[in-house]
This record gives sequence, structure tokens and C-alpha cells, in this order.
Amino acid sequence: MGSPLHRERTAVGNNGTRPHVREVDWFSLASVLFLLLLAPFIVYYFIMACDQYGCSLTAPVVDLATGRARLADIWAKTPPVTKEAAQLYALWVTFQVLLYSALPDFCHKFLPGYVGGVQEGAVTPAGVINKYEINGLQAWLITHLLWFANSHFLSLFSPTIIFDNWIPLLWCANILGYTVSTFAMIKGYFFPTNAKDCKFTGNFFYDYMMGIEFNPRIGKWFDFKLFFNGRPGIVAWTLINLSFAAKQRELYGQVTNAMVLVNVLQAIYVLDFFWNEAWYLKTIDICHDHFGWYLGWGDCVWLPYLYTLQGLYLVYHPVQLSTPHAAGVLLLGLLGYYIFRMANHQKDLFRRTDGRCLIWGRKPRVIECSYTSADGRRHHSKLLVSGFWGVARHLNYTGDLMGSLAYCLACGGGHLLPYFYIIYMTILLTHRCLRDEHRCASKYGGDWARYTAAVPHRLLPGIF
Ligand code: NDP
Repeated sequence: MGSPLHRERTAVGNNGTRPHVREVDWFSLASVLFLLLLAPFIVYYFIMACDQYGCSLTAPVVDLATGRARLADIWAKTPPVTKEAAQLYALWVTFQVLLYSALPDFCHKFLPGYVGGVQEGAVTPAGVINKYEINGLQAWLITHLLWFANSHFLSLFSPTIIFDNWIPLLWCANILGYTVSTFAMIKGYFFPTNAKDCKFTGNFFYDYMMGIEFNPRIGKWFDFKLFFNGRPGIVAWTLINLSFAAKQRELYGQVTNAMVLVNVLQAIYVLDFFWNEAWYLKTIDICHDHFGWYLGWGDCVWLPYLYTLQGLYLVYHPVQLSTPHAAGVLLLGLLGYYIFRMANHQKDLFRRTDGRCLIWGRKPRVIECSYTSADGRRHHSKLLVSGFWGVARHLNYTGDLMGSLAYCLACGGGHLLPYFYIIYMTILLTHRCLRDEHRCASKYGGDWARYTAAVPHRLLPGIF
């Protein structure tokens, strides 16, 4: 018996393979429909609120409720897709595809400690080990070098180009997000990369959102998950922030310290992502989630538009923080980043060395555990009970949340909109923590219970 949410069984597929089949309960289905219908409007609402209402989240509702504006008025003031934005977006995605698929990594040849080039992912449920070309850092560096070359020497386009086309680009991002999700669904049914790693529920909406294929690929190397998760959204993240900073300078003649803080703290997070791209192959997104609208549309639209709200807000509200406030934000951001990185590093080191390492200068405390995989084989693993993993069971998420809060606090207290990120991340990571712990409890049984007894709290020692 599985969880009340997903009762799993297997079935023999048309082609003789054994895809996973899940029954979807009404709550999961309702959540899926809710997100499919609402998420695009949430993104539109936030961006429109900045464009038309100075980033007030309540003013559009008040205007509509009091009859001062009609939906048609708001829509009429929304910029449509333009030829310039479509060309810009097509060029951007094509460039990232080329950097991803046509330029093998050379950074690992000269950057000490950087793991790039061809790397292996985790074993999939069907027992496949995929190979990946890890070249995200290189793509990020080349893209940003070109951006700086243009801003300082070439002047082929204005660095405000992203801000100036922000809403027309939103339509392009949506077109790509829906196209790739729909393509992934069709591909999952008719020409999957690995049929044994497909998951069907028979419910169209659930399959569309959560995905059918585990690791859809085109050819040997073009991996949908790695490409869409990392680029074009995350490479764009820092460029979008730079464009917002350039707009601030154009409008007010200066870049405020709040904008600098948001740019710097988020750039550290993005660079960390690319520096550790090989490690990322072992995270939940790549190891457990299938590729559907949730990842496809989410990476194309949700991430670049909602993760960058602080920079956008600061274009409309050029907040200049007092020195103690700015120092506090910087400290919180760096401390959060430190905990996030070190917690992830400790687990990675522990697993890579099979526990033969030092954590905080000592031999780590370990819980030996075992589990049975789908093919009935018995495996052994270890859970780390030292370092950050002995303080709470998901301190890496806590560090991430501290960093997220720092970005928001950089925007002062004038509006709710820039705080969306910390609200969203708290929901995302708490849900992820519960989902992961549920999976670990099913996987390790009594061994997981020993871990939760040794480390009783999830995110905040003594509280949760
Ligand atoms: P984790 O890196 O925390 O991985 C969880 C897995 O680690 C578990 O399923 C289990 O896997 C293993 N594990 C759990 N406890 C232990 C332990 N004590 N010792 C050894 N192994 C253990 O989760 P994620 O992949 O979700 O997150 C990775 C990072 O990415 C996090 O820092 C998170 O904050 C960040 N992130 C950021 C997002 C964003 O949008 N900004 C979104 C999602 C994540 P196993 O089955 O191998 O035992």
C-alpha cells in the first residue's frame, strides 16, 4: 500500500514494457487543476501590478471592485507580444541551446575544484544511469561576458532591453513553456527516450502537469530537465537583474544599494548553482520528478518572472537602505548562503566518501540503513547525523529560506509584492521537506524513524 495521495501499481504497457501507473486522488487532481488554471494568471497579475499600479497588489482589486477599472481596461493597457520581443526571445533560446549542446565544457580543464564535462546522474527507477554534459558555468560565463562587452564597448543594444520588453517577453516565455510541456507529453506517449521510466496515471491533467517521461531527451545529449531547469531561466536570472539595475540608472541616475544587494546576493546563488551543476544531478528535481508542465512551464515562466520580482520592484521603487539595514541584509544573505552551501556540501561529501570523511573536524555519526528497490534487490545506505544534518533534518532548506528572506528585506517595507518570494519559498520548501520525508520513511522504514528520533526537528531546531 502506498500513500493516500498516490496508490502505485504496475501495468504492462502496449509495447510490453512496465510503466508505472498511479491512481490520482481528488485532492491531487484539484491541486493540479488549480495550478494549471491559476499559475499563469498569478504571474500576469504580479507583472501587470508593477506595470500599471506601481507594484501594489491590492490597487487592481480595489479598482475592479469599485468599478474604477474593468478587466478590459487593464487588458487594453497590457503590451502585446511584439516582433522585437519574439526575435529577441528566439535568439536567446537558440543561443542557449547552442551553448548547451554544441560547446563541450572547457572550464573543468582550468578551474581547480570545478566538476564539469561528462558526468553521470543517479540511477533511475528503471536502472538507467544517464550521462550529462555539464557546461552550465561555461554557458553562464560566455553569456555574461558578451553582455558586459555589449554594455561597455559594443553598444549593439541597450542593457535595459530586457526590462523594456518585459511583458512582450512574458508572452514568448509562455509560448515556449506550453510548447515544451505539450511536446513532452506527446513524446512520452509516442516516442519516449526510456519507456520503462515513464509514469502514467491515465488522468490527462495530472500527466500533463507532473510529466510522463522521467528523463526526456532528444538525441544522446539534449536532456530536457537539465536544459530547462538550468538554462534559459537561471542563466537569464542574473541578466534580468542587471537589466533592472541599468533601468534604475537610466531613470534615476543611480543604482541604489538595495538593487546592488539583490544583484549580488542572487548572483552568488546563481553562480553556486552552476559551480555545483554536477551535484545538482543528485537533487530531487533530477532524481525524482518527471518532466511535465510543472518543470517545463515553471522553468520558462515562473522562475524568470517571479524569482526576479525584487529587482523589478526596485525599478519602480528605488529604495536606498540605511547602512545598518543594508549590512543586516547582507549578513543574513551571506549567513543563509553559508548554511545552504555547507549543509549540501556535507551530505555530498558524506555520500561520495561513504562516510569516510570529517564533518566539523570529526568522524561523522552515522545511521546505517537499508531498502529494497522496485526490482526486489536489497541495498545499503547511510544517513548522516553530524554537522548540519544533526542540527535539523533539512537545514539546507533553512539556509535557502534565510537567503530568500534577505532578498525581500532589501526592498524595505513599502509593499507586499517583493515578499512574495519568501512566502512562495516557505511553502515550496516546507512541502518539499514533507514530501521528501514521506518518501524517506517509505524507503528506509525503521531506519528513518531512528534518524527522526536522533534529529527531531525538520527546519528550525526546537520549533519545527
Ligand atoms: P536534499 O539535497 O536535501 O536531498 C534530500 C535527500 O537527501 C533525501 O531524499 C535522501 O535521499 C537524502 N538524505 C536525507 N537526509 C539525509 C541524511 N541525514 N544523510 C544523508 N542523506 C540524506 O533536497 P533537494 O534535492 O530538494 O534540495 C537540494 C538543494 O536545492 C536544497 O538546498 C534546496 O534548498 C535547493 N532547492 C532550491 C529550489 C529553488 O527553487 N530555489 C527548489 C528546490 C531545491 P536518499 O534517498 O539518497 O537517501
